[in-house]
Amino acid sequence: MAIYVTRPFLPPKEEYLKRVSEVFDREVLTNQGPEVQELEAHMKKYLGTENFQYVANGTVAIQIALRALDVTEGEIITTPFSYVATTSTILWERCTPVFVDIEPGNFTIDPAKIAAAITPRTKAIMPVHVFGYACNIEAIQEIADRHGLKVIYDAAHSFGSVYKGKALSTYGDIATLSFHATKLFHTLEGGGCVIRDNDVAAKLDLVKRFGHVGDEHFTLGINAKQDELNAAMGNVNIKYIDAIIADRKRSSERYDACLNGRLQRPLPQADLAYNYAYYPVVFPDEKALLATFAQLAKHDIFPRRYFYPSLNTLPYLSERYDCPVSQDICSRIACLPLFYGLTDEQIEVVCKNILA
Ligand SMILES: *Cc1c(COP(=O)(O)O)cnc(C)c1O
Repeated sequence: MAIYVTRPFLPPKEEYLKRVSEVFDREVLTNQGPEVQELEAHMKKYLGTENFQYVANGTVAIQIALRALDVTEGEIITTPFSYVATTSTILWERCTPVFVDIEPGNFTIDPAKIAAAITPRTKAIMPVHVFGYACNIEAIQEIADRHGLKVIYDAAHSFGSVYKGKALSTYGDIATLSFHATKLFHTLEGGGCVIRDNDVAAKLDLVKRFGHVGDEHFTLGINAKQDELNAAMGNVNIKYIDAIIADRKRSSERYDACLNGRLQRPLPQADLAYNYAYYPVVFPDEKALLATFAQLAKHDIFPRRYFYPSLNTLPYLSERYDCPVSQDICSRIACLPLFYGLTDEQIEVVCKNILA
């Protein structure tokens, strides 16, 4: 059987079907029904936050976060080392992404370069806790405070990581989460916003459901709501979160032992309890990466170039940015297979076939 970079976690079927059956009996399918309410309660408890809102996916979560914070024009300083949704949401909201380079140690945005990129048009900073590693949160907040900027973390990878005793997904004005099927914790499709300020939370709540309550219209809105069957999957999966993270930790440590320092890895951070969301490795060069991919394909093993290409090189940008660290890392980084249930034997086959 082929091994891909990830495999969605599936809970025992009966547990999910029991909830589906209850949804049928209740005939409440969406609009903040009991499954959605339960999921939001689980998330508030797990993340340790007052304001969590469950939405349709991690992409629309970023879009409505920008709207709720009134970031509707101007420049947003962001990282080129992420999934395309970090950039595309900024463009979709008719704002301008301004790319600054990443730190060579853990591939998160470089705060020194953020400060240098600020202009009178800068409205916000959108960093990414890439692979579940923490950005330099203190330095970023200090810059934001000094210049009156909003901080929106794309925290799509950060669920389960804990930084300085607090969920990594709770830092910033808003942190957005993705619960897509391929993520560490999922609700099939889904996403969420953790919101610091109560007024912003109230605005986001309106924006996500067309901007009105009853017949009274308050603001321009969209439909970013999520339904009961997706929430039900999350309500089952959350019970397994500790087992999921423990299993990924075990697999990651197995990789560490097998690879024995042969490939560069992101530097571990003090103060971070890591969620083991991914197992990225950096090859000496792109040639070694491509040779390894060809070799692994012979064994039906398919890692993924993640992230590639560097987002500052997207063809539909109107401005060119130079981000040499990100471009270099993107040319030679890959994520090795990592998912719940990956076996030691599979890990050994992967490691034996790495040509570097
Ligand atoms: C998955 C992901 C998203 C998008 O989330 P969806 O739920 O798939 O819309 C955004 N940013 C990053 C960094 C991601 O990995």
